[in-house]
Amino acid sequence: MDILRNKVALITGGASGIGRATALLFAREGAAVAIVDINAELGQSAVKEIETLGGKAIFIACDVTKVEDCQRAVETTVAAFGGLDILFNNAGIIRRADVLTTTEAEWDRVMAVNVKSIFLMSKVAIPHIEKRGGGSIINTSSGWGLKGGGNAVSYCASKGAVTNMTRAMAIDHGRQNIRVNAVCPGDTDTPMLRNEAKQLGQLEKEFMAEAASRPLGRYAQPLEIATTVLFLASNAASYVTGAALVVDGGGLA
Ligand code: NAP
Repeated sequence: MDILRNKVALITGGASGIGRATALLFAREGAAVAIVDINAELGQSAVKEIETLGGKAIFIACDVTKVEDCQRAVETTVAAFGGLDILFNNAGIIRRADVLTTTEAEWDRVMAVNVKSIFLMSKVAIPHIEKRGGGSIINTSSGWGLKGGGNAVSYCASKGAVTNMTRAMAIDHGRQNIRVNAVCPGDTDTPMLRNEAKQLGQLEKEFMAEAASRPLGRYAQPLEIATTVLFLASNAASYVTGAALVVDGGGLA
């Protein structure tokens, strides 16, 4: 129950899905957690859930594409909890469309939420993590950050960028004792995944059955990704940096 005792974590996209499951798990393991998200209602409810379980959390409303929001999120976290050890860059969106049907505005938004946010958030967070003598940054990539997928061109471009910027950051910040890794989930049961069925005009039941079609014969639950993020954040991963850890029930295999 104390893998992250005395640690402070900031989680973007922490109100829903994978981020929310990670926020709850981190708090259970003793971390003080800043839930950073654009969705205030869900973010506040995640804080209540953590507090009910006896954990420490705050919610910070933030659009991760905006530099001033990212600055405020990090500063508020440090002011509330006295520092920052773990940054989980997890907020993301998907547009299920090919080059011909993706608008320029959609392309820009996907790249801003999925990629630029990691640059902005890390830029303000790294000096604080360094002050603690080092720490861990985890970026959420995807199986589609390692291979291509149909009707998701902007998303595939963004997640490819996340995987490789993770490697670049690991090289740059290793000497500051900051480990930087990517988690690459396969299909995971979150509002984002179910929304993809709508975008593709597919029946949710059919879409989810396809998502389950992989060696383990099922899609993931958010907690199964969160436990991997916990590993990467923890001392158990003290020599792991620059990795893209695939958690996909064997989908890429
Ligand atoms: P989710 O349930 O939709 O959660 C994402 C959260 O991020 C939501 O609360 C969302 O708010 C928030 N968000 C969106 N835009 C934001 C912004 N500009 N600033 C701050 N917060 C913002 O999705 P999820 O499935 O947990 O996804 C988490 C990460 O996992 C994403 O990076 C995604 O690409 C990745 N991933 C997911 C899967 C999967 O199958 N679910 C697979 C591989 C990778 P709103 O709900 O209000 O938009």
